[in-house]
Amino acid sequence: MSETSQTTYDLVLAGGTVVDPASGTDARLDVAVDGTVIAAIGPDLRGRAAKVVDCTGSTVLPGLVEGHTHIFQHVSKVGAPAEEAHLRRGVVAAADAGTAGASTFAAFRKLVVDATDMRIVNFLNVSVLGLIDFRFGELLNPGTLVVEDALETALANPDVVRGFKIRLSDDVVGDQWEPLLKKSIDLAEQARLPLMVHIGETEEPLPVVLGHLRPGDVVAHCYTGKPHGILDGDTVLPEVLAARERGVLFDSAHGKSNLSFEVARRAIAEGFLPDVLSSDTSARNWRGPVFDLLTSVSKLVALGAPLAECVRRATVAPAAMLGLDTEGYGRLEVGGPAHVTVVTETDEVVLPDAAGNSITAPRLEPVFVLHHGAEVDVVPWRGGTGA
Ligand SMILES: [Zn+2]
Repeated sequence: MSETSQTTYDLVLAGGTVVDPASGTDARLDVAVDGTVIAAIGPDLRGRAAKVVDCTGSTVLPGLVEGHTHIFQHVSKVGAPAEEAHLRRGVVAAADAGTAGASTFAAFRKLVVDATDMRIVNFLNVSVLGLIDFRFGELLNPGTLVVEDALETALANPDVVRGFKIRLSDDVVGDQWEPLLKKSIDLAEQARLPLMVHIGETEEPLPVVLGHLRPGDVVAHCYTGKPHGILDGDTVLPEVLAARERGVLFDSAHGKSNLSFEVARRAIAEGFLPDVLSSDTSARNWRGPVFDLLTSVSKLVALGAPLAECVRRATVAPAAMLGLDTEGYGRLEVGGPAHVTVVTETDEVVLPDAAGNSITAPRLEPVFVLHHGAEVDVVPWRGGTGA
């Protein structure tokens, strides 16, 4: 401290517990930021800071990455506002899961991707329409799956399109699920991209669907309480474990109707955590029962999943799935972009699932968020009373 030419940092987050699954860090450390990058991670950096944020008692995480959301606001009935629903709740990068299709992608790019500094990518809906209005299944006219259009859009927009999405519920695909799924796999194969499939209320049991999927493909809504989920009674189906073994990913995607605490509790007890922990935020659920990604994390922690494992699945794991790891997302790394989300645990609150049940548990609340080194104006939890 008495040295005259000590380096100083613009900002030091001091005294918190740093949990960064990418590097295996889980320790009380300071994080120093210079401009837009992380300058140092280590003990006792506070003395060299131009500004100190005291994080004592808090947990310092990489800026969160949302693997599955719906943010095509103004065009889709399910579109939530990207910044208010995500950035201002600690999420710095997000993937829209199939709200836009090839015919609506240009609008998605202009109204959503280009309208924010958040890093936004997507799974392009295999239907050219996308998910404009949930009342009318986008594939009930199977002719809306135009392989050439989807392929052309994906190839022309590699910075945004990181996969394709098909919803396999009865009310979306009718009895045509299998030919439509095969066509989608063929599209994904041509584009060399993953396919995300939405399960819950599929016509056939999950193992039949899994039989079509390739390593890297994603099953959304793995804790759904709807028919044809991952469980057989209390145990995870062997076909589900086998699919994971060969590289199929499972995404929790809470959503308005697809997180059952009963299913999640049993799966977690068996050691089956989702590969990606996502909220499936939309205009239909961001004021409850989903609220935001951190609330989805809090729910799985409350059901027995270890915090660091949940954080891994909401940071480095989705970053890798989306190809955003190469841009420094999902980790805290010296020289990397300063995306940091500081959280505290609240008192116990009532947290609902999507099946009409609730638990009482603490909730993780973002108290300080840095995005490219700049402080984000955090908004309060939308659940109201849960301070
Ligand atoms: Zn979704």
